[in-house]
Amino acid sequence: MQSASLFERASAVTPGGVNSPVRAFRAVGGVPRFMTSGDGCHITDVDGNTYLDLVCSWGPMLLGHAHPEVIAAVQAAVSRGTSYGTPTQTEVELGEEIVARTPVDKVRLVSSGTEATMSALRLARGATGRDKIVKFAGCYHGHVDALLAQAGSGVITLGIPGTPGVTEATTADTIVLPYNDQAAVSAAFAQYGDLIAAVITEASPGNMGVVPPADNFNAFLAKTCTDNGALFISDEVMTGFRITKSGWYGVDGVQPDLMTFGKVMGGGFPAAAFGGRADIMSQLAPEGSVYQAGTLSGNPIATMAGLTTLRLATDDVYAKLDETSLTIQRLVATALEKEGVPHVIQAAGNLFSVFFVDSTEGSGVIRDFAGAGAQVLPRFAAFFHAMLDAGVYLPPSAFEAWFVSAAIDDDALADLESALVPAARAAAAVQN
Ligand SMILES: *Cc1c(COP(=O)(O)O)cnc(C)c1O
Repeated sequence: MQSASLFERASAVTPGGVNSPVRAFRAVGGVPRFMTSGDGCHITDVDGNTYLDLVCSWGPMLLGHAHPEVIAAVQAAVSRGTSYGTPTQTEVELGEEIVARTPVDKVRLVSSGTEATMSALRLARGATGRDKIVKFAGCYHGHVDALLAQAGSGVITLGIPGTPGVTEATTADTIVLPYNDQAAVSAAFAQYGDLIAAVITEASPGNMGVVPPADNFNAFLAKTCTDNGALFISDEVMTGFRITKSGWYGVDGVQPDLMTFGKVMGGGFPAAAFGGRADIMSQLAPEGSVYQAGTLSGNPIATMAGLTTLRLATDDVYAKLDETSLTIQRLVATALEKEGVPHVIQAAGNLFSVFFVDSTEGSGVIRDFAGAGAQVLPRFAAFFHAMLDAGVYLPPSAFEAWFVSAAIDDDALADLESALVPAARAAAAVQN
């Protein structure tokens, strides 16, 4: 197996053999597959195995891989040179597209979601003159030091409780609260109200599995922030331009002070952004005094890929993504029910995940990080490997959303339905 020999070479030159921990197979066992190409809804590995891709590069590939119009736009851009370190028209157009789709007045382009949330926090602290930040357990906002406390995603997958290298001083101003818990938020504001610069939350969390906000939770957060002179930061790096044209904002319409974007808006290249109210954004350098910069920010190739992707992501595309996602959820539920595998499927628009829980307290709904943590992980591992063997690539972790692309067609859905038969059986064979 060539993936195995590449993994050995990779492990010799990079820690754990991967350049981002979520790509490792530690939680499910086995060797990560090294991909060589993608086409539509499929990806192909070095051994020539082709998989239906339900990771989509962890979100960006909304239109599927190697979309002809995106590739053509990128190739044309590359032939004009790859970076100038000056402003370009494409970044203006991408900024205009983001401003048109979302409630932000102004945006600043950066290169990763991590940079976006890091910069938004700095701006919130600069704008309010306050230090403390509220975040929620199970929400991931990139590997920003101050936000790595109980950070979901790769951090839970690997069972790392805190992160060595992040000093206590760095997280001393981070208040971590249980998600969907209004009383905990009120208590934190009662104690620290005039010290809190911002509340940051995933608009609809997808990094502990999909755990949507309870009714009014985001509206409650926005109001609590306003009442206390703090800023409400909605992290839409995962949901932005994926769930609807305007992300989760298009679902609940709660107006944040600042927002962060990434993933889809880069069309498979490193591009991200943060944005918000004009009066807050104007405090950024060079207009204001809060410094933030990037050599490759607004890179002409990345912005062309993102702009072309967003322009192709029409209402019809979002309608198709919703339909595809619902079909897949139904197929998974049917297969698991047939084999008697206990589970809960939760969705936020076209994002969804399958929780392999034996039972849920009361409501049958996973509301927070503790609920997501109650999964029977070996059952997911068995399911994952059976799916992989049958040609379906899922996130190699029980704590991740599944991502659909607009390239998934009826043939792919039929393949998926067949793959689910042995996978549900494999999950059923694992005793708790
Ligand atoms: C992926 C993600 C990030 C981090 O983005 P990177 O580009 O990986 O740095 C931040 N917030 C959320 C909600 C994400 O899903």
